Amino acid sequence: MNKRAVMGRYGIAESEELDAVLKTYPNIDVPLLLSMAAEGSYNIMVIAKKMVSDASLKYGGDTVLSYPETGYGLPSIYAWKGIESLDLDGAAELLDSLPRPAASSLEDGFSSGESTMYAAEIIEAITYLGDNKERDGFIPDRVLRKLGLSFVDETIPGAVVFLGGEVSEDDLDFMVRNSQSKGMVAIASGDYPDMMRRSNISLGFDRMLYPVGMFTATIHAINFAIRAALTFGGVPAGDRTRLSKYLAKRPKVVIIQTGPLNCLDAAFAFAALMHSASIVTDQDLPEIPKKIKVCKNHRDMVQTGIEERGITVKLEPIDLPVGYGPSFEGEIIRKPDVYVEAGGSRSPAFELLTSKSEKEVDDGKVTLVGNEIDSFESGSLIPIAMIVEVYGKDMHDDLEPVIERRFHSSINFAEGVWHAGQRNTNWIRISKKAKDRGFEFKDLGKILIHKVREEFGQVVTRVQATIITDKKAMDERLPEALRSYEKRDERMKGLKDDLVDDFYTCTMCQSFAPGHICIVAPERVGLCGAINWLDAKASNELSPNGPNKPLRKENVVDLEKGEWEGIDRLINTTSMGGIERICMYSLMDAPMTSCGCFEVIVGMTVDMQSVILVDRDYSEMTPIGMRFSSLAGSIGGGRQTPGFMGVGKKYITSEKFISAEGGIRRISWMPKHLKEMIGKDLQKRCDAIGIPDLMSKIADETITKDAEGLMAWMAEVDHPALHMKPLL
Ligand code: SF4
Ligand code: ZN
Repeated sequence: MNKRAVMGRYGIAESEELDAVLKTYPNIDVPLLLSMAAEGSYNIMVIAKKMVSDASLKYGGDTVLSYPETGYGLPSIYAWKGIESLDLDGAAELLDSLPRPAASSLEDGFSSGESTMYAAEIIEAITYLGDNKERDGFIPDRVLRKLGLSFVDETIPGAVVFLGGEVSEDDLDFMVRNSQSKGMVAIASGDYPDMMRRSNISLGFDRMLYPVGMFTATIHAINFAIRAALTFGGVPAGDRTRLSKYLAKRPKVVIIQTGPLNCLDAAFAFAALMHSASIVTDQDLPEIPKKIKVCKNHRDMVQTGIEERGITVKLEPIDLPVGYGPSFEGEIIRKPDVYVEAGGSRSPAFELLTSKSEKEVDDGKVTLVGNEIDSFESGSLIPIAMIVEVYGKDMHDDLEPVIERRFHSSINFAEGVWHAGQRNTNWIRISKKAKDRGFEFKDLGKILIHKVREEFGQVVTRVQATIITDKKAMDERLPEALRSYEKRDERMKGLKDDLVDDFYTCTMCQSFAPGHICIVAPERVGLCGAINWLDAKASNELSPNGPNKPLRKENVVDLEKGEWEGIDRLINTTSMGGIERICMYSLMDAPMTSCGCFEVIVGMTVDMQSVILVDRDYSEMTPIGMRFSSLAGSIGGGRQTPGFMGVGKKYITSEKFISAEGGIRRISWMPKHLKEMIGKDLQKRCDAIGIPDLMSKIADETITKDAEGLMAWMAEVDHPALHMKPLL
């Protein structure tokens, strides 16, 4: 690590301590590793103390240390020490209370690691004082939550942290692609962010490749893992035993350390081990099974780490000229980078999955009708249809939309390919870069066949794909697609809670939030927004012992609140007694539990008359005095919290949305962009309940962000919730 760069970046002067922290050694045995960690730890604490006292003079000792957009204070201190908020005076006290590092046992090593973690957390937080710009560093809670379901179902099997430096450009490129193709989240610290930028590797939240920075910024990799436990596991602050136990299981973290090891990173290595990470290094370090492994070939490091940490990669490789994996799902392709584009209501496009007879499906065949990509000029707007035909003895109509809905993520996983929408309102972009690498329309078919087989292989035994870029040929197939959509819509209309016998459980999130169960009903999508009733039903058919089981609605207790004896009984056993009752349509009486991946939080207002809605893309203050992140922190982890609940976006516009408390009439506030997003459907509901101007009575952040403001607004517009019984 470059000393000058550290001094510049952290505003610290040349000192013995800094030299000691950055000192490196070759051929490290156990005693040396321990004493390096102790050295690193001691000296980084001295540096931290100095920075705290300087900052106190400048900002005042009662200045609170915090990171942008998190509900977990300084996460490592919050989680391991149970300190929820720390000001500069508190930081000085904490640093003074830490033991002087020793180097005679592994316990000493862990103690050095722990102290280093706290010192680093404090140093990093100081760099955020008076500077909250977007930059390398802390990874906000919302990024973690966005990973939610993929983390839970292990599409993202773990995280790779790159630490150190000195890797050739080719090897670096290989390592990054390797971890991305395995679906791992990658975090770059040490010299890696700079090296990656120099190699033109795309960094950022949309690539699942996060540059946290050099020096003490490695702490941001650790506090990312910690927050996964706090967010999804509901581990309370300061509960060290539960935290350790949780981290032993997940998230599964691999540290790839390259180049000469310095004392700071030696101490960080112990901190990482404390969090059950496995370290793979190209240095001569002592090997400890499952903990430290030496691997001199850079190209083998990621795979070695995955094996050492016991990570199972679910993603099977597809033969494509571009990268493929969840790392590319959030990738955005801007207009100037587009090679061809289809749909988006500017050119005709549609996608369809349909069943055919055995003879009609030639398994694995991709047909292109029309021109291939290189016949089009850069920037072309083209027509496109993607049709997948399947056959399977157990295939049936209800599965068609379920499989078709997966087109979206399947296509988005490809690097340089972007997909939005569905059916005949879909929208596709293929980037110039992807085209240059050799991506063709036929590859779209290849991807779809591969993914349909991978995910639905139990029911679908033959799959073929047809990609059409010829307008005439496309028009010939369009009526078939439209008929199919119409038929599905008819069936969906008949899908009402009151008309089905079974709801479904979803326990997928129990791996993260042990007590959590979603109950998925026709009129209530799972709180992650990704699992609807048809999905749950299909998944139950595919794997009867999987996370989705039917829940018979036997013996109604209270129809209005949505309580059934049959469901209560099953909930009781599935939650191992943790939850006794569930009222499907109530926010106040035995509401559904919340894991960590909810799209939106419904929360009771201070005056108990109404509710606000807040989604994870809104990070500012809400009128109930909490931001999304702190609200999420207090309701997540599988708890039942009357008055507060995580929900999927679609549920808001369902007739059953907190219907026991009056439904959408209760909504008094939501962020503007959420209102715009669900506006059309919400307006329909407002009309249906006979309050067509309700939308205009729902406030947003441009009107107020506090409780008094909201009360005044409600009085001013005579909000219907004011005429209802208080919630409590
Ligand atoms: Fe998790 Fe609920 Fe979504 Fe299932 S439906 S994945 S339990 S949030
Ligand atoms: Zn969840």
